[in-house]
Amino acid sequence: MRIDVLTLFPEMFAGVFGSSILGKARDKGIVGLNAVNFRDYANNKHNTVDDYPYGGGGGMVLKPEPLFAAVEDLVTEQAGKPRVILMCPQGETFSQRKAEELAKEPHLIFVCGHYEGYDERIREHLVTDEISIGDYVLTGGELPAMVVIDSVARLLPGVLGNETSAVTDSFSTGLIEHPHYTRPAVFRGWEVPEVLMSGHHAKVEAWRREQSLLRTLKRRPDLLENAELSDKERVWLNQQRSEK
Ligand code: SAM
Repeated sequence: MRIDVLTLFPEMFAGVFGSSILGKARDKGIVGLNAVNFRDYANNKHNTVDDYPYGGGGGMVLKPEPLFAAVEDLVTEQAGKPRVILMCPQGETFSQRKAEELAKEPHLIFVCGHYEGYDERIREHLVTDEISIGDYVLTGGELPAMVVIDSVARLLPGVLGNETSAVTDSFSTGLIEHPHYTRPAVFRGWEVPEVLMSGHHAKVEAWRREQSLLRTLKRRPDLLENAELSDKERVWLNQQRSEK
């Protein structure tokens, strides 16, 4: 996969793209990560990328020309038509499903805004997706783009050491993940559940599934509406609800 980010602050990406799991994925050639300053495409005397809004009012608006020119320059015949993703608090709220969908694409281009907003023609004629990372407003699209890139890249084959960990993560299964324990078996008098040390694989799996269901019921009952559940599990969850 190839990922390009259009930003006015490419230096912000150096740490994230060069460290930890993303850095290793890049070194292994699994994902190409590239931060591009779209001011380089401004093509005017003062390299201006923003201007005052028509109709007046506060704040600056990002101009269309530099962003259109940058995206057009990044499109290659090899990779085909990219998904062009606008980071925007007004967009679709990001989710694990969206990460899975984007992880199937060969080329993603992220557009990071700053200032008050974007010229509406960018939204209407350049981008394919608008993504928000939540109902709050940040100063720029860089941090949101990093969040989305990290969650997409970790789904690519070969990026995570233990391939099963992405499969059982919270939300991948439609549920919240079960609790984890490691050594010591007793810490300050708090014991690890006995079943986890039993060596009985089927019992461990059953315990984990039950814990995952209970945790989802307690913390995110909304997820249960779309989760894949057996009839037995539905009955059991209804019992838990009524006991609660
Ligand atoms: N005036 C805009 C509005 O009300 O929708 C907010 C602009 S915000 C100050 C500047 C930039 O930060 C946005 O263009 C976007 O790229 C980014 N941004 C801020 N909050 C975001 C969020 N929750 N999700 C994704 N991007 C966000």
